[in-house]
Amino acid sequence: MDIIVLEPGTPESNVKNIIKKLESKGLKTHISHGTERTIIGVIGDTSKVTEDEEAAIRAMSGVENVVRILKPFKLASRDFKKENTEIKVRDLVIGGKKIHVMAGPCAVENRAILFSIAEKVKAAGATILRGGAFKPRTSPYSFQGLGEEGLKYLAEARERYGLAIVTELMDTKDIDIVLKYTDIIQIGARNMQNFKLLLEVGSTNKPVLLKRGLSATIKEWLMSAEYILSRGNQNVMLCERGIRTFETATRNTLDLSAVPLLKQITHLPIVVDPSHGVGKRDLVPPMAKAAIAAGADALMIEVHTNPEEALSDGEQSLKPNTFIKLMSELKPIAEAVNREL
Ligand code: PEP
Ligand code: MN
Repeated sequence: MDIIVLEPGTPESNVKNIIKKLESKGLKTHISHGTERTIIGVIGDTSKVTEDEEAAIRAMSGVENVVRILKPFKLASRDFKKENTEIKVRDLVIGGKKIHVMAGPCAVENRAILFSIAEKVKAAGATILRGGAFKPRTSPYSFQGLGEEGLKYLAEARERYGLAIVTELMDTKDIDIVLKYTDIIQIGARNMQNFKLLLEVGSTNKPVLLKRGLSATIKEWLMSAEYILSRGNQNVMLCERGIRTFETATRNTLDLSAVPLLKQITHLPIVVDPSHGVGKRDLVPPMAKAAIAAGADALMIEVHTNPEEALSDGEQSLKPNTFIKLMSELKPIAEAVNREL
C-alpha cells in the first residue's frame, strides 16, 4: 500500500486522521496537492501492513483509492529477488536452462507397473518420476493410494532408473514418512490453502511443488507460496494445473497466460501440468508444447503403460509411445525459446 488517493474536496480533518492512522503503523507520509486530487505517498515498510489493515484504511472517510505498489507477497516477489530461483533436486537444477520433465502414473499402483513406467519415461528423457502414494480422490470409494508401500516403490525406482521422485503430501501427520523417501514434496491443488500443511513443509528444506488451487487466483497462489517461504524454505516451485471455469469440455482450463505473468512477478520456477489441465490424453501433447513456448521451467505429465486399466486418471495419461514422441517434439521448441530439454 504505497499511494492513497483522496476524494476531491476531502476536509483537512479527514486528511489528518488518515495520516495519524499511517503514523500509528510506523509509516511516514508525503502529501502532494494536485489540481484535482490530493495524494498521500506512504513511506516505509508497507509490506507489514496486512490486507485487513489496508481494508480499514480504504474505508476511512476521504479515501478514494489505495494503490499498493509493494505486492502483498514479498519473499515470492521479483521486487524482493531479481534472479530466478534455481532449485537443486539431487543432481538436477530446476529453474535453470534445462527444462525438466516429471512423468509417471497418477498413482503408484504396484511395483511392477511403476517400474515399467519408470523405465519408459527415463528412456524418453524424463528426469523426475511422479506418482501419488497418498491420493486426494473426489470419491472416498476410489483408490486412495498405497501409502508408505507406494513411497518405498518410488524410492526403489529412483535407485534402479536414476530418476528423482516427486510425490504428494496430503496430511501433516505423514510429513516424516514422505520426507524420508521423496526428493520433492507435492502439495496438491486441493491443499493449496491448507495453511498448516504449508507451514510444515516450510519448516523443512525439501523442494516443494505447490500446485495451483482449483479456483485460486494468482495472488492467492503466491500468498500460499509465501507461507512456505516465510518459514525459511526457499525451494518452492509453482505448478499450473488448470483452473475451474465455466467451460466443461476440458477437465479444467489450463491457464498458460499465468506462466509469462508469473515470470514477471516472481522469481520462483514454474511447472506446468497439462494432464490435469485438460484431462484428455489427446490434448496433452499440444498443451505441453505450448507450456514450453510460454516459458515453463518444467512439465509434469501423467504416463501409464495401460491407461485403460489405470486406477486413477487413465483418460488423461499418455501411453509410453506417445510420451516418447512428445519428448522428441518438445526439444526444438525448447531450443527456440533458448532452453534445452
Ligand atoms: C495429481 O498430480 O495426481 C493430482 C491429484 O493433482 P492436482 O492436485 O493438481 O489435482
Ligand atoms: Mn492425477
